[in-house]
Amino acid sequence: TLTEYICIGCGVAVQTENPNGLGYAPPSSLNKETLICQRCFRLKHYNEVQDVSLTDDDFLKILNGLGKVDGLIVKIVDIFDFNGSWLPGLHRFVGKNPILLIGNKEDLLPKSVKRAKLTNWMKQQAKQLGLQPLDVLLVSATKGHSIDEAMEAIDTYREGKDVYVVGCTNVGKSTFINRIIKNVTGENEVITTSHFPGTTLDMIEIPLSDGSALIDTPGIINHHQMAHFVDKRDLKVITPKKEIKPTIFQLNEEQTLFFGGLARLDYISGGRRSLVCYVSNELKIHRTKVENADQLYEKHAGEMLQPPRKNDMDEFPQLVRHEFMIKEGKTDIVFSGLGWVTINEPGAKVAAYVPKGVNVMLRPSLI
Ligand code: GDP
Repeated sequence: TLTEYICIGCGVAVQTENPNGLGYAPPSSLNKETLICQRCFRLKHYNEVQDVSLTDDDFLKILNGLGKVDGLIVKIVDIFDFNGSWLPGLHRFVGKNPILLIGNKEDLLPKSVKRAKLTNWMKQQAKQLGLQPLDVLLVSATKGHSIDEAMEAIDTYREGKDVYVVGCTNVGKSTFINRIIKNVTGENEVITTSHFPGTTLDMIEIPLSDGSALIDTPGIINHHQMAHFVDKRDLKVITPKKEIKPTIFQLNEEQTLFFGGLARLDYISGGRRSLVCYVSNELKIHRTKVENADQLYEKHAGEMLQPPRKNDMDEFPQLVRHEFMIKEGKTDIVFSGLGWVTINEPGAKVAAYVPKGVNVMLRPSLI
């Protein structure tokens, strides 16, 4: 079987089936004398890390491995999908290793909001979720915002030790590391991958100047994100690419908002009030009355209410209703991976609908 083939770069078991999975190498490479997985190949020849994903079991192995190392853990989350990209339980695995929390995709949030306010919010959320990071930073890996600050922080906090970068898929971990590689090595220098002794083997090292290394760990797939229920083209629609322009709706009781055909919010009671929607600018929001909403969805999901597309409706999970009483002011109703709706005054009753399997939750407002 294929498990006999081991990558000489990182030591992972090579497979030839899933190009996005860990240890992938094209079938033709099995005949070569020195076998190297695609991820190590790219690092070696293009100075680039590639995002690969892992099964939950494999990721558990990596987490367990982190408890045995001695270094700085850099945890990256997607600020647009903070909760969905959180990696719950990390603090139970990392042992005594310090954690630096980095929120990526800062460029998506309104420029008018103070960055200090956002990092404070992240600190509070982290604490509630059981994590006590040394520090919290906001960056944009694509725009290059605050990358120098992040590198400085990493260099200070690592105290000469190795750095382990963790995050779930799609948080922008590869983009972030590739930025760092460019800054550290310049364009031309070639990085060699090296074996990571002692632990799970599927991490790759990027050497730092003092003999320590920055180590890229594979990302975990978070199954509760909307991204897994839409096709590639629709993922482009729901993933914001630039600063989100919030849309404000003045709603009466018994009115409904549809987010394409992917999610729905019924405003049940609490008097006339405004709801502020933070979703991709390309996702159409449709307003109707609660009494008409079921019928509208049945008739128009896949067409007027899109994404998902008509052809994908058969496989698209049913929307499941979750009722919430908004007791605190400034509360976000979060649709994992899709965005959130902010309610500023307490005393509203709402019902949020998401595809079966997708998370929906309340949190104190991010903005
Ligand atoms: P990984 O799976 O964590 O390695 O994530 P990637 O680096 O492959 O990035 C996932 C997606 O997020 C890609 O479409 C990136 O272009 C996008 N992305 C990464 N960093 C940023 C960022 O700072 N801002 C924005 N808006 N998008 C980003």
